[in-house]
Amino acid sequence: MRNQISVLSVPIDTVTIDEAVDKVYHLSKEPGFHMVATANAEMVMMAQNDKELHEILTKADLVVPDGAGVLWAAEQKGEHFPERVAGYDLACRLCAASAKDSLPIYCLGAAPGVAEKAMAAMQKEFGSLPVVGIHDGYFKEADEEALIKEITESGAKLVLLALGVPKQEKWMYHKLQHLDGVVAMGVGGSFDVMAGMIPRAPKWMQEHRLEWLYRLFKQPSRLMRMMALPRFMWKVKTSK
Ligand code: UDP
Repeated sequence: MRNQISVLSVPIDTVTIDEAVDKVYHLSKEPGFHMVATANAEMVMMAQNDKELHEILTKADLVVPDGAGVLWAAEQKGEHFPERVAGYDLACRLCAASAKDSLPIYCLGAAPGVAEKAMAAMQKEFGSLPVVGIHDGYFKEADEEALIKEITESGAKLVLLALGVPKQEKWMYHKLQHLDGVVAMGVGGSFDVMAGMIPRAPKWMQEHRLEWLYRLFKQPSRLMRMMALPRFMWKVKTSK
């Protein structure tokens, strides 16, 4: 049985990071195509107006509570997620699992050269990583067919997509459905962080649910996007 909490009509799984890693591992052994999403306030707000994104999130095999906002929203209803499962942490743990159990990975997204650096960093940390393909996220529509063929033939069991929300979710949903025994996960800016291009918030800020503030400080251009957070809080408060 799948335990989920609905946050503004987006069902989010009540899992710990250990359970999420375990679930992804088992999904990769099951037939069919499986999708993993990482829900934060911004994504939930986007899904309020974007029906397609909402549908993808309801169809996803695993939606982890990625942001402090979704933990807070559950608490407003007297419900609790066991912990925050940050997309970045889950992506790192999946790289570790891939190294340990030889789970082939394909990386799609970020600027040219970034995913290569990210995987080199993961390799340094977790040992030999079976990376079966890498492609940057700035491809043209005309190149998509060849790219999909490359991913299909790569033998990847895990496809990490760093194209930003909702592009990565829509891309996996529309272009990778035919894959069998494969898990795809949207990882947002994780390759940039793994590659050391963008620093991760200090532990104390993560623990105090302030990672969003750190990201705003480091990337002030995110201000407009971050306006989703107060809108999200308002909507949660008024929809009770
Ligand atoms: N990106 C990409 N292709 C695009 C748009 C974005 O590869 O057409 C990449 C971008 O370079 C970055 C990631 O997608 O690496 C999105 O990062 P963002 O910080 O927006 O994601 P978040 O972690 O906030 O979800």
